[in-house]
Amino acid sequence: MNRFDRILVVDWSARSAPSPKAPSADAIWIACADAQGVVTEYCRTRTEAMQRVAAHLQAALDQRQRVLAGFDFPFGYPAGFAQALTGEPSVLAVWQWLADRILDSDDNDNNRFDVARAMNAQFPGVGPFWGCPTGVADSVLPDRGSLRSGHGMAERRAVEIAVPKAQPVWKLYTTGSVGSQTLLGLPRLQQLRTQFGRKASVWPFEAPDTPIVLAEIYPSLLDGDVTRLLASAPDMIKDEAQVRVLAQALYEWDDGTLDAAFAAAPPEAAKEEGWILGVGLEAPSVSAGYTAQQPPPLKNDCFALPPGVDWVPVPTALATLRGSVRHVVGRETLPIARAGGRVLASDATAARAHPPRANAAVDGYGFAHASLGPAPHHLPLTGDVAAAGSDAGPVPPGHAVRILTGAAVPPGVDTVVLQEDVTASADSVVFNGPMKPGANVRAAGEDLTVGNTALTSGRMLTPADLGLLSAAGVKAVNVYHPLRVAVLSTGDELVDDAPDTDDTAIVDANRPMLLDILRRWGHAPIDCGIARDDRAEVRAALDAAADSADAILTSGGASAGDEDHISALMRGEGRVSTWRIAMKPGRPLLMGFWKDTPVFGLPGNPVAAFVCTLIFARPALHALAGGPWLDPQGFVVPAAFKKRKKAGRHEYLRARMTPEGRAEVFASEGSGRISGISWADGLVALDHDARDIQPGDPVLYLPLTSFGL
Ligand code: AMP
Ligand code: MG
Repeated sequence: MNRFDRILVVDWSARSAPSPKAPSADAIWIACADAQGVVTEYCRTRTEAMQRVAAHLQAALDQRQRVLAGFDFPFGYPAGFAQALTGEPSVLAVWQWLADRILDSDDNDNNRFDVARAMNAQFPGVGPFWGCPTGVADSVLPDRGSLRSGHGMAERRAVEIAVPKAQPVWKLYTTGSVGSQTLLGLPRLQQLRTQFGRKASVWPFEAPDTPIVLAEIYPSLLDGDVTRLLASAPDMIKDEAQVRVLAQALYEWDDGTLDAAFAAAPPEAAKEEGWILGVGLEAPSVSAGYTAQQPPPLKNDCFALPPGVDWVPVPTALATLRGSVRHVVGRETLPIARAGGRVLASDATAARAHPPRANAAVDGYGFAHASLGPAPHHLPLTGDVAAAGSDAGPVPPGHAVRILTGAAVPPGVDTVVLQEDVTASADSVVFNGPMKPGANVRAAGEDLTVGNTALTSGRMLTPADLGLLSAAGVKAVNVYHPLRVAVLSTGDELVDDAPDTDDTAIVDANRPMLLDILRRWGHAPIDCGIARDDRAEVRAALDAAADSADAILTSGGASAGDEDHISALMRGEGRVSTWRIAMKPGRPLLMGFWKDTPVFGLPGNPVAAFVCTLIFARPALHALAGGPWLDPQGFVVPAAFKKRKKAGRHEYLRARMTPEGRAEVFASEGSGRISGISWADGLVALDHDARDIQPGDPVLYLPLTSFGL
């Protein structure tokens, strides 16, 4: 009997832009039912939803579970479509065909109308696809269904005849635009098939006997149960209620109902058109009745997603941040000697060529290559020694001049023979060939010519850059002012200087750490001290920081507790762009604006504050300071440790390199252990997938130097 440990139900969306931040109906809803109950997730984009689905599937595999994932869009088209479009009878060929052509970006922007038009062009007459915004419609892709003719495809699949209120697959626009959901859904499912290979099957085209089974579902099938749930939970969004009810129902159908549902697809549909799971059953309902007042499942993991709460994956949070920072600082012109560590505000152009004249790359003898006869070459010496700074006269053809490294080659010289390669007397040299023309001579301007861009704007000037600019004759550069960054600690328990007798106070560790990090990154830190856990005091401190700084780092008080004034104030009176980020350590990191000044609301815990500063504040502050977005340069190295990691969040482990080039991690993952950040010389970064790391397995190591520390 078919039994699944986990059920996923996905209510798909064909939106062309991200869904609203606040949970809404016009979005993707995912419900996951397992032994602990039903949990729902709200997703703003298809990319985000698929990351979550893939994470669920992988987590199930890691735990040797079976999972049924249902999606509410058609898996196939009316009979004959696959053959007509792809030349193959299998609808899975259509999946691949679409996956090769649909472009669906991370912000939901997509080319579905173009692809639909291309498909219509392969059919006779007009159609079968229709429906698009005015302006997009044309004779190939009409905006009204009645304009179609002669394309030869049936309007409905067999299952849509059995369920008359289901919408046909051809309609791409406005209410019930199932067609667009299909066009944007099937390529995503094809990616899952590629990712999970033989572990996944697609019902009813393939036998549902794999660990992962993908199936088409139709949440409206259980509308009676949905109505009952909404009666007891009136604030719930209907889409959320639908996925909840269906996930629970499928989870409960382990009494043979699921087998019957699998068996209910007629063979013809199973071959090509697909079928909605549950259609054909006598009474497809929640067998045990839906219980609305379930307590939240107890999971000993503070990252378990509470129902309805949206944890933002690290890459999404970084992308949001990246899209919202622009340089905010003014410019000034500084002499080179004072410009180290500043960010160039405009390109620096070479005022001199480098080298300014052709010069000798070695100590030896210079001559004109064209004047050489057959080897051995016997050349009389002429003139004074050409040394750096001297101005030697012209060298006649067939003669050589003694020349030292770095000296400008005199007129008549284009080639230098190494002194070790000659036999020299007082007035001549003899050497063997063959010599290449131009050997051992550096051409004028081979490094830089006048007017070349020596360094581009956005570059943070290194010591080597000052050398280059000097050589290029650049005396002064246009640079950005340093970014002023305020650092504020919050918490009643914090002191700067604890008397030895007081063991209740916590010495502020974050401020000294953050102020020094900012200084090393080239910013101008501003110490804003400690604010007590008092709404008015924290508000005043934020006001003062916003007045004096270009950006603010706070630590502490970013959670959702009674004394978490940073988050309360930012949510109430400021603007929060990202809050709950699925990373460890890091909960809770808050990013937003106070009076238009960017605020990084770091966790109070020093380990978490440190990691969040490196991962989030560093690239953003650098961009605010006029530089480019910075990604740390990591290296894949063998692990010197073992670790099991759960799916669903990024983790950063305090790590350091062993002499053998392996990454070891700090003995304790407890984020209270501040000694660990001092012990570490880098971080091991683990992405959101589950992992079971054994010694020797590859892991991504990010040295602290790649964070500029
Ligand atoms: P909070 O986020 O304010 O609840 O703080 C979380 C934990 O970090 C608490 O144990 C605080 O005492 C501690 N903490 C907060 N700020 C600092 C700081 N600046 N230095 C050291 N520990 C801190
Ligand atoms: Mg606190």
